[in-house]
Amino acid sequence: MSSEKKGINTICTHVGELEDKTYKGAVSPLYMSTSYAFEGVDIKRYPRYFNTPNQMALSQKIAALEHAETAMIFGSGMAAVSTAILAFLQAGDHIILQRMLYGGTYSLITEQLNKFGIEYSFIDESRPETFEKAIRPTTRVVYIETPSNPLLTITDIQAFARIAKRHGIISLIDNTFASPVNQNPIDLGIDVVIHSATKYMGGHSDILAGAVACSRAHMEPIFQLAKNLGGSLSDYTVWLLERSIKTMGIRVKAQNENAQKLAEFLENHSDIARVYYPGLPTHPDHELAKSQMHGFGGMMSFELNEALDASLFQKSLKLIKSSMSLAGVESTVLSPTQTSHALLSAEERAKQGIKDGLIRFSVGIEETEDLVQDIEQALAEVKKRQMAVQP
Ligand code: PLP
Repeated sequence: MSSEKKGINTICTHVGELEDKTYKGAVSPLYMSTSYAFEGVDIKRYPRYFNTPNQMALSQKIAALEHAETAMIFGSGMAAVSTAILAFLQAGDHIILQRMLYGGTYSLITEQLNKFGIEYSFIDESRPETFEKAIRPTTRVVYIETPSNPLLTITDIQAFARIAKRHGIISLIDNTFASPVNQNPIDLGIDVVIHSATKYMGGHSDILAGAVACSRAHMEPIFQLAKNLGGSLSDYTVWLLERSIKTMGIRVKAQNENAQKLAEFLENHSDIARVYYPGLPTHPDHELAKSQMHGFGGMMSFELNEALDASLFQKSLKLIKSSMSLAGVESTVLSPTQTSHALLSAEERAKQGIKDGLIRFSVGIEETEDLVQDIEQALAEVKKRQMAVQP
């Protein structure tokens, strides 16, 4: 089905469906072959060439969601991130990245690029003019992530894309936190959009996958490198991901609404010191977020008042699980210091503004009142236990 002028839920449900011509079943058939004929065929198919029937069909859906010409699916978000970054760089080149990044991406850059003779600079994402100042004759790529993990900073996508275009630099964005439901960076001038599909696309905490969406011209070097690196996704998981994306539009909308209410509740709570959520008018980039996002997303972070033990709070939650990942239908919390950003030094975390007590909150689809009640009972439990140990 063509995606032209179709609504988000219609695209999620129907684009990239494989027709079951034999049995007329309602869902896409699953083709698990790793070996296809090479004679008398138009396409020589092999899973690591990213061209099995299920891979190609899902790619169409993701391309339609991101308003891109084409897309590719990877075995993880980091396979998508690393392949897309390295596809445009060679020894002697330079890449500029915003400082606030997912910890895994930050580690990839700081631990691997030197080996290949590739130079990098981190810049303050809140000031696009610092990007222009950091450009060198060898700069080939700029990489942004917005909203960022875990502090929900907002980067001006159009400003970065405009500067990149003016200097002939390829622009990449990690659009994971927003999801294609809430933000479409290609419409704002970005060249390449990357997703950890493990998050909102999968949405049920049972799939590890990644995706890249862009023009056919930009995909060519990504595809060539991807074949060599071999980070493709099993067709079974591709099929499951296609099934999961069907409900992404309604899931993310429910998560947006829940997160807004919870952010307002937390901001007005006397036990909470600070809330980081772009949907709050008090967020420093609320207006920018409003101008470039269709919804503010289901992710936020917050800090308890200093006297309260953040770790004990997380352990005291009953409904909201403590969990390593994010964006499932179930609400979860984590400590970035212990998980997503554990690989960063304490100094680097401090530079990024990530405090040890910071709690990242991935809001699910449960009723808001139940989540509020869980937070209230956990705060009461922390106060009770801390009072009990006071001399
Ligand atoms: N980008 C962001 C913003 C993430 O949060 C993550 C994982 O948490 C990744 C990329 C990496 O994705 P994956 O874990 O699927 O490799």
